[in-house]
Amino acid sequence: MKAAVCREFGKPLVIEDVTLAKPQAGELRVKIAATAICHSDISYADGAWGGTLPAIFGHESVQLLVKLRFRLMQRVR
Ligand SMILES: [Zn+2]
Repeated sequence: MKAAVCREFGKPLVIEDVTLAKPQAGELRVKIAATAICHSDISYADGAWGGTLPAIFGHESVQLLVKLRFRLMQRVR
């Protein structure tokens, strides 16, 4: 999938092809239908809060649930 990736704080985002890891137990995968970059994303990309890079922004989005993986708990007697 294509994503706008922040590789360096304060620099323009770079459109790249990225591959997502498979969901782990307790995680889910959604398909992004539409997203936006908000003021928080811009502050993060500017380095206002530090953090780990590379990063992909756009947490305010319309999503479709694609995959849900969960772990069944087995009771041992
Ligand atoms: Zn936001």
